[in-house]
Amino acid sequence: MNSENQNREMNPIRVGVLGFGGLGQAAARVLAPKTEMKWVAAADKKGCAYNSEGLNPDSCINTYHHQGSVGFVEPWGILCDDGIGELIKTAAVDGYFLALPNLPNTFMASVAQQFIKSGWRGVLVDAMKRTSAVEQLLELQTELQAAGITYMTGCGATPGLLTAAAALGAQSYAEIHSVKITFGVGIANWEAYRATIREDIAHMPGYDVATAMAMSDAEVEALLDKTDGKITLENMEHADDIMLELAGICPRDRVTVGGVVDTRNPKKPLSTNVQITGRTFEGKISTHTFTLGDETSMAANVCGPAFGYLKAGVKLHRRGIYGLFTAAEVMPHFVR
Ligand code: NAD
Repeated sequence: MNSENQNREMNPIRVGVLGFGGLGQAAARVLAPKTEMKWVAAADKKGCAYNSEGLNPDSCINTYHHQGSVGFVEPWGILCDDGIGELIKTAAVDGYFLALPNLPNTFMASVAQQFIKSGWRGVLVDAMKRTSAVEQLLELQTELQAAGITYMTGCGATPGLLTAAAALGAQSYAEIHSVKITFGVGIANWEAYRATIREDIAHMPGYDVATAMAMSDAEVEALLDKTDGKITLENMEHADDIMLELAGICPRDRVTVGGVVDTRNPKKPLSTNVQITGRTFEGKISTHTFTLGDETSMAANVCGPAFGYLKAGVKLHRRGIYGLFTAAEVMPHFVR
């Protein structure tokens, strides 16, 4: 190993978190005990913060809660309209987790384009959910490759952990008949995950991304009051389908996603699972079921995989492998 490679192996991966809401804050906490990654940068809608020696999760989360932006964090914060652009210009970061709302449905692709245009090189990871949103990134494949960006998409829980589990479980079969993802999410209050809840409402009958995005907080409250705080979803437009199709597992119409979100109780309303049904080479039809532990939160099941894929992305990037990858194509690496 030459000395440059040795240095890279020893130095922690410098990580930035874009979006500092529910998932962004959980991401900071997930990273705190890690030695292979160092959390150095964060951005939200009103500003950003950067410290090459590492940011303190408690002080950033406190500041965000009391003052509304990491831009107020002393002395590392800056208040500005384009925290992402500011970090691209000034921060030394190997990889970013995009814990951003994808509202409108084109927002994440526009952030990817901002990175491409800036000349920044490194790894980007998202936990994006909609099939049409991943399709927009697929169109950027050539530009991402040319820019020297390794972009890992759909790397949360679903899509993400469960899609990867389906890709793994499929290996027992000669043909895949169905992949059925059912999720249960329990959160104590919807305000902790506003984008997640608005994006879920956008899947309800009679709603779309534009109407959910335009809803005031009071309108979201009123809707949740009618359903006792629960959102029940079926046949969602979820990128697990295109990711499994791209990975060659099965056509997208064999993949279904639905679930229940309880916004008033951290206990999961049902156990999150993926069922992979197929035919073995002997002609037997069977179903594998992978069920997440009920004690694991949405934040744990999104942020853990996101950083596992970020580490995998950094390895690809260091080998000169750029472009778009999905969670069903690459194994996440465990971050110590
Ligand atoms: P949130 O509403 O709690 O927080 C969003 C954050 O993004 C806020 O800090 C806000 O200030 C910031 N932000 C908004 N616009 C910005 C901009 N232009 N520049 C910088 N920052 C900006 O969001 P959340 O509930 O944590 O969800 C984040 C995303 O994660 C959502 O898109 C959601 O769908 C996704 N998600 C994915 C999974 C999965 O399993 N794949 C699960 C849950 C959530």
